[in-house]
Amino acid sequence: MSEKLISIFTNETQHSMDVKQVLTKKLINLGYTVLNEFSKDAELVICVGGDGAFLETIHKCDFPNTPIVGINTGHLGFFQEVLPEDFDKFIREYESGKYTLQKLSTVECIVSTADGQKNVHTGLNEITITGRKSYSIHFDISIDGKPIENFSGDGILVATSAGSTAYNYSVGGSIVDPRLDLLQVTPIAPMNTTAYRSFTSSILLPSELTLGIVPESSENCIYITNDGIETGYCNVKEIEVRTSKRHVNLIRFNDYDFWNKVKDKFL
Ligand code: NAP
Repeated sequence: MSEKLISIFTNETQHSMDVKQVLTKKLINLGYTVLNEFSKDAELVICVGGDGAFLETIHKCDFPNTPIVGINTGHLGFFQEVLPEDFDKFIREYESGKYTLQKLSTVECIVSTADGQKNVHTGLNEITITGRKSYSIHFDISIDGKPIENFSGDGILVATSAGSTAYNYSVGGSIVDPRLDLLQVTPIAPMNTTAYRSFTSSILLPSELTLGIVPESSENCIYITNDGIETGYCNVKEIEVRTSKRHVNLIRFNDYDFWNKVKDKFL
């Protein structure tokens, strides 16, 4: 008989670690082998914590195809589906296949530098492109190769639909139902004067289009932040941002309702 493998991750709060211990015992009693690391042979990934812990798990596992479920020990979790006290019910429904997989799109950016290097960053929530702290940044923005604006401001945030309730919302972007597959491009503190003209609202792009960003030649430090992970670059020639081919397969149960979560979190 083949092994039933489950990988389990947690953040470092005492509560999450206690919950993980209890769940691990239950899973072992049910005949599963429980790993504290990612394995391609695992049939399920479990993440104990809040949305931040969920993002960390996705990055640690390098955006796995394996179904993943979040056990919520944090604040209201948008990714997290199950409360620790409902774990027994969860495992019964999981074993009898009473769930759906929500396929979440991700966003990627390719940074090309003057020395010919290309680096790819992927985000489940968003990617931001900013300058040095407290300095405005200037770049030319195109959509599928067609020039659209000369941006000036703190930077640009490109959010997935699932990420629309995170940083995107704080900078004035719209909440998007994750059933819509699109990228939302939201300016961060855009300058709009007689000297500089930038869009002040979000732009919504269908998933097949690519956003091109060319920094002005005077810009020498650019920061790319994917889901809170910051990388600095010098001498950037071009940045392309687009919908990635990688997806996250999130386990949802029949009573899942995105708009109920939105109401509970924001109203
Ligand atoms: P953090 O700064 O410690 O926490 C960010 C907060 O965003 C947490 O309360 C987290 O929920 C929540 N969150 C994460 N993803 C969400 C989503 N899809 N919808 C609604 N809320 C969400 O950073 P972190 O925990 O490492 O998470 C990184 C994320 O922080 C980034 O992807 C970015 O979206 C967000 N962020 C937000 C701001 C802002 O709003 N001004 C600034 C920087 C970064 P939990 O409490 O459940 O973990």
